[in-house]
Amino acid sequence: MLRPAGEARYLPRVAHQPDNLWIAAALVAWFGQSARELPWRSAVGAPAGCRRDPYRALVSELMLQQTQVGRVVDKFRAFIEAFPDAATLAAAPEERVLACWSGLGYYRRAKLLHAAAKEIVRSHGGVVPSSVGSLQGLPGVGRYTAGAVASMACGQAVALVDGNVARVLFRIRGRDATQGDAADMAWAWEDAEELVAGAAAAGVDVPALNEALMELGATVCTPAAPTCDRCPVRERCTGFAQSRQSSIPRPKPAGVRSVITCDAVAVLDDRGRILLEQRPATGMWASMWQLPTIEEAGRGRRDREKVAAWIGLGDADQLRRLERFTHTTTHRDVRFTLWMYRSAAVPAGGGSPGRVWKSRDELGDLGISNAQRRMIARAFESALSTGGATLPVRPRR
Ligand code: SF4
Repeated sequence: MLRPAGEARYLPRVAHQPDNLWIAAALVAWFGQSARELPWRSAVGAPAGCRRDPYRALVSELMLQQTQVGRVVDKFRAFIEAFPDAATLAAAPEERVLACWSGLGYYRRAKLLHAAAKEIVRSHGGVVPSSVGSLQGLPGVGRYTAGAVASMACGQAVALVDGNVARVLFRIRGRDATQGDAADMAWAWEDAEELVAGAAAAGVDVPALNEALMELGATVCTPAAPTCDRCPVRERCTGFAQSRQSSIPRPKPAGVRSVITCDAVAVLDDRGRILLEQRPATGMWASMWQLPTIEEAGRGRRDREKVAAWIGLGDADQLRRLERFTHTTTHRDVRFTLWMYRSAAVPAGGGSPGRVWKSRDELGDLGISNAQRRMIARAFESALSTGGATLPVRPRR
């Protein structure tokens, strides 16, 4: 049954079924020739009756949310090597999971994946379930991710719609859609379900069709500049026929972005260790490690006296500003100022019992955001470039 319960919430739309079979067949044929080789597309570890390992499919789908394929490939390989199955992941400490996720951003996904693995062990005997309903019962698994795992790993004829698939369907149908609009997304789900139902009835490989739609959106029917001359469905595409492909969908109205101002202080000791603290367990970059950082909403700037006093380092003259930059996330601009503290006397722990000294070699085992990694690297670089003339700084015991 491909049509979901509660279909009354879907808007009526124009019928355009006659082209569906042609489109499905063209997409599957194109995908067979054009699919990129990606590590999660391998059949390695696939249990009997599955095309791929559902656990690997789940990991890859969570990694790919809001992150580009190029950034995910190596991280995926390393993650699977560290946690080859749900049971291993479930048993791992959260800190290790976050460390393996470092560099991908949106760390909440790592926590949800960890929680999903625990639920798979607790409720499914360590085996990733194959039905959309059971998959949607796992933490962090929504309708799209459940459909992706059920279809691409378990071979089921279910529809799935992410931003790429929605954009392709809007353009093929010439729908005057708005990016992220709930009614338009509901329409896209209904359209995808109809496409999949017709394809399944005609014996078309539905998992390949789903993946072809995603691949087309990622590589050909891209947001700003679709390369229609390379598209297998161009001759049935209404958006292309009307020269509207680049204006579908309309961008969503700009929301108000929040601004956060952070002063981060790099303190190194005479053994080349750097002082770090752990963020709270909830909120932005939850539980990640960072340089001692003052964080406030808004655009305020602090002078060096205030930064030194806050961090408990006493001598403001020893604080030197290394750089300022803005790190952008989906909804926020985080304005960082990086300071370096150079003194022969640093209070043990930098004035806070929650802070720890870590050597450069130990940083790989910690969950650290990209912005913080950038600043830590800059601090080590600065310490090296000064030849340690004013370093080392020695913590007071
Ligand atoms: S013809 Fe162009 S706009 Fe239409 S689906 Fe293909 S790439 Fe997208």
